Amino acid sequence: MRVFNFSAGPATLPQPVLEQVQRELLDWHGIGSSLIEVSHRGPHFSAVRDEAEARLRQLLAIPDDYAVLFLQGGATLQFAQVAMNLLRGGSADYIVTGAWSQKAYREALRLAPALGGKVRLAGSTEESGFTRAPRADELDLDPNASYVHVCTNETIHGVEWLDLDAIAATGVPIVADMSSHLLSRPIDVRQFGLIYAGAQKNVGPAGVTIVIVRRDLINDPWVGTPSVMQYAAQDANQSMLNTPPTFAIYVANLVFAWLEAQGGVAAIETVNRRKAEKLYAAIDALPLYENRVEVPWRSRMNVPFRLRDESLNERFLHESDAAGLKYLKGHKMVGGMRASIYNAMPEEGVDALVAFLHDFAARHTA
Ligand SMILES: *Cc1c(COP(=O)(O)O)cnc(C)c1O
Repeated sequence: MRVFNFSAGPATLPQPVLEQVQRELLDWHGIGSSLIEVSHRGPHFSAVRDEAEARLRQLLAIPDDYAVLFLQGGATLQFAQVAMNLLRGGSADYIVTGAWSQKAYREALRLAPALGGKVRLAGSTEESGFTRAPRADELDLDPNASYVHVCTNETIHGVEWLDLDAIAATGVPIVADMSSHLLSRPIDVRQFGLIYAGAQKNVGPAGVTIVIVRRDLINDPWVGTPSVMQYAAQDANQSMLNTPPTFAIYVANLVFAWLEAQGGVAAIETVNRRKAEKLYAAIDALPLYENRVEVPWRSRMNVPFRLRDESLNERFLHESDAAGLKYLKGHKMVGGMRASIYNAMPEEGVDALVAFLHDFAARHTA
């Protein structure tokens, strides 16, 4: 039986996609083997890779002067790869809004001396406990920076923000970690110099990292950058400078097709908004639960919440698990609970969680 899986990542995938993978696993389209047993340079996989890129370009309206890359190493490798390709002996601005942007900042800070460049903290909401995005007047942006790095959805702290106009106004290319909300809503790709996302949150299985990058930014990587980490070299080789993660790309392509069948990202955004509103409404209405993120920046994808009576945590996790609502334990950095409600989480899953929240509160509130 399938459960409702609220894991932050690797995370739930659309059931029809899993069923298709299962059907095709022994004999993909009549070739007598699976797609993951054939050459990545042969016609079968090449066609799937091309289809995946075309679908992603269509879903996000990605302009032609942007490369779409399917890489490895996760979003964590991008923390380094971005700096190696884009810093160019200059200075980069980092805005810290939670655990992931902080990691990206620290990795760039560590590498900057070797890259002959500098990294600056251009804004941080750490003082607020990462419960909001910075206001424009709190930012200290360098108009000559090589790029400014943001994480537009903080998976651990549950902060989402896309009001980047103040940053865009500087003309500095924006680099965005969108690992946990890419494809959950329409975005204006033109507002970004580079977008990256590990697939295992909202896109597919672990193993592939999507990079969308404006081509004029990638022609001058740091001289020590390994070839597989050079965006321009990967772009020139259709992301196949070496063997790509064929299984992950194959499944991501099926997820893209599933998303098309849902009506695309604008249609899924409507569902995502409704799912998030229902869940936050329950958390806000019931005194037992609390979400501290300021309302305009509450993530539609990752909903951290706490029980005001923390002595009930174990019981909450035990009972929710028994009810088929899985992996609600929060990240150890923030404690409490977290429900990740990505594209593939059916609305019935959120409805079941909301009903459980009410039921548990009724039984455990004095
Ligand atoms: C999960 C996550 C990462 C790290 O991804 P890996 O693929 O494990 O390297 C980075 N940024 C965000 C926003 C994430 O959610």
